[in-house]
Amino acid sequence: MSEQRVHAQSVPGREGLDLRADCADCFGLCCVALAFTASADFAADKDAGQPCTHLRTDFRCGIHERLRPEGYQGCTVYECFGAGQRISQITYAGRDWREAPGTARQMFALLPVVRQLHELLWYLTEALALEPARPLHGDLRAALTRIERLTEGTPGELLALDVAEHRQEVNALLLRTSELVRAGATKDARGRKSGRKKDRRGADLIGANLRGADLHGANLRGAYLIGADLRGADLRVADLIGADLRDADLSGADLTGAFFLTQSQLNAAKGDAGTRLPPALTRPAHW
Ligand code: SF4
Repeated sequence: MSEQRVHAQSVPGREGLDLRADCADCFGLCCVALAFTASADFAADKDAGQPCTHLRTDFRCGIHERLRPEGYQGCTVYECFGAGQRISQITYAGRDWREAPGTARQMFALLPVVRQLHELLWYLTEALALEPARPLHGDLRAALTRIERLTEGTPGELLALDVAEHRQEVNALLLRTSELVRAGATKDARGRKSGRKKDRRGADLIGANLRGADLHGANLRGAYLIGADLRGADLRVADLIGADLRDADLSGADLTGAFFLTQSQLNAAKGDAGTRLPPALTRPAHW
């Protein structure tokens, strides 16, 4: 459902792994499996399992170029991390749900499962590219291999997984990674730790005035930054995993080295040509 209805581009540090939505190879799974409620994000209601009225027979979006003006902003911020094409082309070997309607329900039920596994792979591959996390690379690689194997399961095996447990295990590693990466950024000129005030994990910063704020090396894991004014903020080497950036204004902000940030988080935010981004992410078309 992302705006990238093109073949996935290579992602620095993630070569060989197909962790970006490639809608051209997907059977429009997110456009069918997910339920929508008419809101600022979706122009109409839709039940889970019901194809969106804009989904064409070739599984392309009929209003792809006009999603935002047509009231489907929510579609531009969804990211399946490549789960859609995996399920379509690998798990079901290219046999779509229209051709084999008996598989439809199971195929749609798999989307949230495989999406979560691919999301973990995204974070783990990013962690492996972070030099300060080198002491953890062995553990990170082992976790990556384990999760990759899980994605290769049959539909029945995938549906039986306890994904929450796997998320917990990976999250513990990502937390340790974050501490190592941010440690260098949160030392003052004398090498003393100065990061305590920058621990904003899970903080309610909705609509906060953070214009020009020094958030270098900050822990913003799961922070609520909806509508926050982050214009010109220093977000270098900040951990942004799960931060809610909907309508946050990142114009002129510096996100160089910010990590565990996804394309869908960026797509939900505002920004401009002056926003500095980590290399794996692209400037959203609406900025
Ligand atoms: S509007 Fe387009 S991208 Fe959004 S659900 Fe419908 S077909 Fe998919």
